[in-house]
Formats: sequence, structure tokens, C-alpha cells
Amino acid sequence: MAEGQRPPEVDRIAASRKAVAARRSRAALKRDITMRVASPQEVVRRAFADATSSAGTMRVTEFLTAIPAIGEGKRDRILADLEISPVKRLGGLGARQRRDLMTWLNGRLPEPVARDGRSRLLVLAGPTAVGKGTVAAKIRETHPEIHLSVSATTRAPRPGEQEGVHYYFVDDAEFDRMIADGELLEYATVHNSHRYGTPRRPIEEALAAGKTVLLEIDLQGARQVRAAEPSATLIFLLPPTWDELVDRLVGRGTEDEAERSRRLKTARRELAAQGEFDHRVVNADVATAAAEVVQLSEASAR
Ligand code: 5GP
Repeated sequence: MAEGQRPPEVDRIAASRKAVAARRSRAALKRDITMRVASPQEVVRRAFADATSSAGTMRVTEFLTAIPAIGEGKRDRILADLEISPVKRLGGLGARQRRDLMTWLNGRLPEPVARDGRSRLLVLAGPTAVGKGTVAAKIRETHPEIHLSVSATTRAPRPGEQEGVHYYFVDDAEFDRMIADGELLEYATVHNSHRYGTPRRPIEEALAAGKTVLLEIDLQGARQVRAAEPSATLIFLLPPTWDELVDRLVGRGTEDEAERSRRLKTARRELAAQGEFDHRVVNADVATAAAEVVQLSEASAR
């Protein structure tokens, strides 16, 4: 059959499939905004760069209500203030509307800004299942000059884990002693089960020797390090999308509904903490994310 003579129903089916796919990817993007995987500014930048992208074809009304704390009433007031018609799509905004929307977002929802002159003590944290351990392992492999802190833990070793390499495996009494003797820079109970803590001495020695030190710890630990060492550089590892994190968290489907919802609630709360961090790195690909963390460590060391 000659070009352009396909039966119309084939075109209709193809068009409706395309429309369904576009709606799905807009819905996924809205979840990313709501769950704070993507900042509103990031989505707006994508929309302005490409009006045909899922960000570009998103209605301004959908975009605004996807932002936590913006309901329909507030949304309508914002649109009226910015003189933007509610039928507009992000990619279809005029130059003045684009500028005003960005200014409004920057004023109300400031994005985390990278602070300069941080120390060589780096903390890598992020939501559960984002892949912190894998990124840290990659750095261990490719950058042996970076001192990766070895934590103490009360959990049992998993197959293949070595004492002093992956963790120092200690019992509760020894963990209590380490706390009492001030040997831990930070410590926390993770997932309501076992305790994990960062031994202070090896870090001090590595820093004194001019090395970069990387801690791969949970959010509670990251906050304690910030309090104890305000100059530490805090890096937040993000999933590429909210849906991807959900897949990694509950994808296997082996948990019951209560456990599923507990994990998702935790992830949502953890993602909301990213504003406390100096830098954000997206873990779409382990090697790239590891390289970005190393780059940030080099920038901090200058
Ligand atoms: P896993 O048991 O799977 O090795 O680690 C569980 C969690 O404990 C991970 O989220 C990891 O980041 C966290 N973790 C490991 N070591 C420490 C530590 O020294 N301090 C804190 N606060 N969290 C840690």
C-alpha cells in the first residue's frame, strides 16, 4: 500500500495508543512532583525546553495541584495572580507567563542550592532502596583513594560480607559500649530493627591524612553528621522516577498490603528531606551516579 493510504482506523488506533501513552507519562510525572522526585522548577524547565514532552503537554492546573500543599483553591488564586488561563499547557505559556511562573516557584519553593567550600567529609544518603549501597560499592571499586567509612552494626553478616570490609559486626553490649565511650560520630536504629553507627576514629585519621571520606548512611545519621560537623557535604541520592522507586521497594510483591504502604510512606517522608542536602544526584545508572558523587567530592576538596 502506498504511503499515506493506510486505512483510517489504523491511524485512529495508533493515535489513541499514543494518547494513552502520553497520558500515562504525564501521570507518572505528576507523581514525581508530588513525591518530590522532581522539583516543580525541573518540570517547568523540561516543559519550556520541549513543548511536546510530557512536561510540555501538562496542563498548568494539573501541574500546580501535583505540588504538595497546593489545592484547587490555591491553584486558582495563583493562576489568577499570574494571569494564566487554566486551559493552558506548560509548554504553551508565553514568555511573560514563563518568567512569572518561574519567579513564583523560586520564591515559594526554593530549590536546594549547592553550598561552596564544604569539607572533604561526604555523606551519601537517600530513600530506602534508591541504591546507596550499590553506588558506594562502585566508588570503592573505581576510587580506592576515597576512604569509605566502615560502620558498626548489630545485624548479622549476610553471605559474602566480611568483617571490617563491609561492616564491623558487633553485639548489643559492644554497641552500647561504643556509644558510652563516645566512639561513634552518629548512630541510629534502621528499619526499626538493628543499630548502625559510624566509628569516629578512622574518619578523623583519614581526614587528617588529607583523604576524602565517604559515609553511606541513613537519613537520621546524615542529620546527626550535619549537627556534629556542619561543614560536611551532604549528598542526596534520588531515584530517576517515583514509579521506579516503588518498583524497587515493593516490586517483588512479597510483602503484604500493610508492609507495602508502610514502605511507601517512609519513602515519601525520606524524599521530602532532600532540601536539607547540599547536592542531589539521580541514580538512573550506577556508574554515572558514582562518577557524579566523586566529582562533587573533588569539588568540595578544592
Ligand atoms: P544494610 O543492612 O542493608 O547493609 O543497611 C541498611 C541501612 O543502614 C542502609 O540504609 C544504610 O544506609 C544504613 N546504614 C549503614 N551504616 C550506617 C551507619 O553507620 N549509620 C546509619 N545511620 N545508617 C547506616
